[in-house]
Amino acid sequence: MTLDQPFWIAKPLDRLSAAEWESLCDGCGKCCTFTLENDETGERFATRVACRLFDSDACGCGDYANRFNRVPTCIKITADTIATLDFLPDTCAYRLVAAGKPLPDWHHLISGDRAAVHRLGWSVQGRTISEQVVEESGVDYEDYIVVWPREKRPSRRRAR
Ligand code: SF4
Ligand code: SF4
Repeated sequence: MTLDQPFWIAKPLDRLSAAEWESLCDGCGKCCTFTLENDETGERFATRVACRLFDSDACGCGDYANRFNRVPTCIKITADTIATLDFLPDTCAYRLVAAGKPLPDWHHLISGDRAAVHRLGWSVQGRTISEQVVEESGVDYEDYIVVWPREKRPSRRRAR
């Protein structure tokens, strides 16, 4: 370890400051979408259905500071729990760092470009529909199953 190393390599996740921790998120938004699971086979399918608080155009939580009050099922990602949060995509920066893997070139901490995650198709920006809209329409979540661009197989994320 050297002083020249970036913070996510130089320090363990549980030693990051709050600002460092937040800056690691790439803003892909995939953790705010729902996944369906086949009860018999355990196979999982990503959907375009997002949490009612998710802002699809901004690709982020609509009330991040109050998310746990607004959505009690929202799951807090921490250094202690990251290993158990199997609903996160393989590209999730927290998963990568926790596994000792490098951040991708398009990650804003590498590229300096926060829009790259959206421009290059790694995020769900503009592609989701609110769970509230889906529930009011009566349409089944199955009708919104999706394979996200750049994902070659169904998501491993669990149903939320
Ligand atoms: S999946 Fe990970 S990197 Fe993507 S928005 Fe969620 S916490 Fe951030
Ligand atoms: S409440 Fe949680 S799951 Fe819902 S949009 Fe905000 S961060 Fe995502």
